[in-house]
Amino acid sequence: MTETTAILPQVDKALLLQRLQQILPASALLAEPEELRAYECDGLSAYRRLPLLVALPETTGQVQAILRLCSALGVPVVARGAGTGLSGGALPHGQGLLLSLARLTAILAVDADRRTARVQPGVRNLAISQAVDALGLYYAPDPSSQIACSIGGNVAENSGGVHCLKYGLTVHNIQKLKVVTMSGELLEIGSDGPDAAGYDLLALMTGSEGMLGVIVEVTVRLLPKPERAQVMLAAFDDPAKAGAAVGAIIAAGIIPAGLEMMDKLAVQAAEDFVHAGYPRDAEAILLCELDGTHEEVSEQLLTLRDILRGSGAVEVRTARDEAERQLFWKGRKAAFPAVGRISPDYYCMDGTIPRQRLPQVLRAIAELSQEYGLTVANVFHAGDGNLYPLILYDANRPGELERTEALGGRILELCVAVGGTITGEHGVGMEKIDQMCVQFSSAELAQMHALKQAFDPQGLLNPGKAVPSLHRCAELGAMHVHQGRLAFPDLERF
Ligand SMILES: Cc1cc2nc3c(=O)[nH]c(=O)nc-3n(C[C@H](O)[C@H](O)[C@H](O)COP(=O)(O)OP(=O)(O)OC[C@H]3O[C@@H](n4cnc5c(N)ncnc54)[C@H](O)[C@@H]3O)c2cc1C
Repeated sequence: MTETTAILPQVDKALLLQRLQQILPASALLAEPEELRAYECDGLSAYRRLPLLVALPETTGQVQAILRLCSALGVPVVARGAGTGLSGGALPHGQGLLLSLARLTAILAVDADRRTARVQPGVRNLAISQAVDALGLYYAPDPSSQIACSIGGNVAENSGGVHCLKYGLTVHNIQKLKVVTMSGELLEIGSDGPDAAGYDLLALMTGSEGMLGVIVEVTVRLLPKPERAQVMLAAFDDPAKAGAAVGAIIAAGIIPAGLEMMDKLAVQAAEDFVHAGYPRDAEAILLCELDGTHEEVSEQLLTLRDILRGSGAVEVRTARDEAERQLFWKGRKAAFPAVGRISPDYYCMDGTIPRQRLPQVLRAIAELSQEYGLTVANVFHAGDGNLYPLILYDANRPGELERTEALGGRILELCVAVGGTITGEHGVGMEKIDQMCVQFSSAELAQMHALKQAFDPQGLLNPGKAVPSLHRCAELGAMHVHQGRLAFPDLERF
């Protein structure tokens, strides 16, 4: 079997450049080191590598011609959207072409009756909602990078956000894709109906991290904007009680538009940073947003209050007005940079667990934190069971980084042990490729390789990412932040 990490032959850069010049204008090709530098990494800046060349096509036909050429010459290709990925998915191949989709930014059609929009892959996530705002519609999946990240990248990563608990991930909000295979074939995947015959290639392509094909068009589903949104804040004297409240809310049939949790350390850091009005003495808080018609929201707020009280909340507050609602969310959005202010470094994990296991996992993380002598601040998309434990450390203290990584590894193993997964929203890319060995058996990984081979027999699309070769296995990886210096610091962190 060809593995995704197959050793590829040396590429003749001059020949590649010359042949690409027959497809693209000079303005769409970058070859100088200083031009390539801007593409050397994505949001996971710990991994950097210059590509041989960068191509910036402006049409689907150009994408097809480029892939046909690279296929013929045996040149690896890494697709790139906005480069905000946090797992190294768009890290260039040193002997390959970096294929940027950033110039394919047209919103091709909006169908208000069918509530769909057909867009090119380089369109920013938020730009879709902005374009249909006047129609009273929006695109629900809302990664906190949404002002910058591209819809093509969202599909490739199956991105999520606060709203995804109620409205689903990217995969649940797209209807059709146009994809170019490595051999240059244009595929149309999905249908206008609720289902399509044959294998569900739409789902397969979503989250495929640029390994199976290059997305050149996305038909997204749009939703009507809710009449009203309201957020309730609940404070708890025990994080496990907050975790149990999450399960109780969902069990009661309420699906919040957002259900976020922060533990004491995260609450205090956020409060000191943005003065959101959080109770500093709470051991944990939940932020629960409801949306819908005025009547629905009013009714559910009453039920929600009872559930939160019944779960042991010591304080329950509804935002008094839109300004306070925004302030409550501002604190949550500022949690990552706020933690960056109280520790020289932090290590951001991203794993998912079945949400009923939250209390158990929170207790286990607290024990592990003690065992390793390292402080952990916890911020969660609680409704999705998506954890972001932030391990505080100081890289200048000998051995602390290693201890931090070991603790991070134990936390991810814990996620797998309780039936969860090693990835939440950030994909596998380079970052978590080794944890794939922890989560999947050889037989399961072999099936993933077989799929890769069916789409890309030469193994040229994004080689060495997301699916480890069968002999590979090792330590964990995650996002490291030194002295608060984040990639894309101006973007909100959820
Ligand atoms: C501050 C910050 C906050 C974030 N918050 C969230 C969050 O809340 N939720 C979340 O899910 N993610 C989040 N992310 C991660 C990131 O924004 C998402 O993964 C996003 O979907 C990446 O989109 P991109 O256009 O930047 O893709 P890139 O980073 O350019 O690429 C990501 C992957 O997709 C592939 N790819 C890109 N475009 C295409 C295409 N057209 N065809 C085929 N493959 C392609 C690449 O090869 C790569 O493997 C955050 C990132 C930052 C920096």
